[in-house]
Amino acid sequence: MEKIVALCKRRGFVFQNSEIYGGVNGIWDLGPLGVALANNIKKEWWNSMVISRNDVVGFDSSILSSPKVWEASGHLKSFTDPLIECKICHERFRADHKKEIEEHGKTHPSTGSGQAKWTDVKHFNLMFKTFLGPLDDEKNKTYLRPETAQGIFINFQNVLATTRVKIPFGIAQIGRGFRNEITTGNFLFRVREFEMMELEFFTEPGKDSEWFDYWRKERLKWYLNLGIKKENIKLVDLPKEDIAHYSKGTSEIWYNWPFMGFGELEGIANRGDYDLSQHSKFSAKELSYFDEENKKRFIPYAIEPSVGVGRAILAFLIDSYSEEKDRVVLKLHPKLSPIKAAVFPLLANKLPLAKMARAIYDNLKSSIRDSIAFDERGNIGKRYYSQDEIGTPFCITVDFQSLEDQTVTVRDRDTMKQERIKVKELSSFIKKKLD
Ligand code: ATP
Repeated sequence: MEKIVALCKRRGFVFQNSEIYGGVNGIWDLGPLGVALANNIKKEWWNSMVISRNDVVGFDSSILSSPKVWEASGHLKSFTDPLIECKICHERFRADHKKEIEEHGKTHPSTGSGQAKWTDVKHFNLMFKTFLGPLDDEKNKTYLRPETAQGIFINFQNVLATTRVKIPFGIAQIGRGFRNEITTGNFLFRVREFEMMELEFFTEPGKDSEWFDYWRKERLKWYLNLGIKKENIKLVDLPKEDIAHYSKGTSEIWYNWPFMGFGELEGIANRGDYDLSQHSKFSAKELSYFDEENKKRFIPYAIEPSVGVGRAILAFLIDSYSEEKDRVVLKLHPKLSPIKAAVFPLLANKLPLAKMARAIYDNLKSSIRDSIAFDERGNIGKRYYSQDEIGTPFCITVDFQSLEDQTVTVRDRDTMKQERIKVKELSSFIKKKLD
């Protein structure tokens, strides 16, 4: 983990927010390579959940909403974590994070005895509060959303009325969520502000188990298709006592994190008709569905796969990080790589080489329509090293032979093999490989 955190900072994937002011816990900024990786992950998710299907539509609801939303959804009352406080140093912990509590007890600085003294468990609401409008009073109090899902439920009728969707169908959304976590940590794993990728897939009651099972498998496949190693990921069905009272079943996709072993990467829940029923009750609006074919009305059940973009970034980085004899390499799936190819003139000071390399770079940039790098510094070995470390799948070198026969060498990141390719075939060669 330390190596990955250092790489992320050194190469501009992730920076601690407000670093020049000492940093803020649990809030991170994405640098140029981080935002490219995040965008690629979001693009793959959106492609698989929306674009490639004909039963899911996209949505983008606001971060702020009426506080009634959170009353109806139950977040105001129960979006809490159990909190305990060390009576000696007043550091606060999640009461269910036994390992951290044990560690704190062992290393407690002021007692030296290995015993911290704890307060009783309190319930701490994780929603960030704010005010709508210029008056900071109770009447104007609202919350930053802790999940995007409620924005979908409150718009259920709007989507039904304006599209041709028929049950079963889904509404997908990518957006920011905020949770005032009691303890943050493990880099991007537990943070206070993060993007989430969520789908609410609406089904007829009775057909929900079938769809729940479908989405569990589909989501696992998504990670495997993007290169996560089979041995590092698994589907786990949670026991009844660990799931929300309204849930008809919850599974999680667990990743083998270096800091804790297997733990949650993504949640997939069968939320039943809880959310639509609650919003219907609190708003006094009909949020049911009329099935024209079978002439029946029902409140649909919702199946929800939900994952944080940051947690996914972390899993893809950890899984692809590899140390070899003379290099560090991120063996990211090419679709996720922040930079798809890098172009090098063998010698920067030889004008014809530099000119030809520039022309190839410009051409690739417009034909691949993705990030292409140009590097003319240092020796070729160092340039390879620099691209391997950020996961660039192809490095293209323009050498003296290129001037004569209009070919270049293309080096594959993973095999390190080089092949000579005609310049005019370069972009179709790369496109094919990226696919
Ligand atoms: P946990 O038990 O780890 O607190 P949760 O069960 O509350 O998580 P969900 O409400 O199911 O999490 O959130 C859906 C997904 O959002 C999680 O699977 C995870 O990928 C991501 N996520 C949740 N909380 C955080 C956080 N604080 N930081 C980063 N990602 C998060």
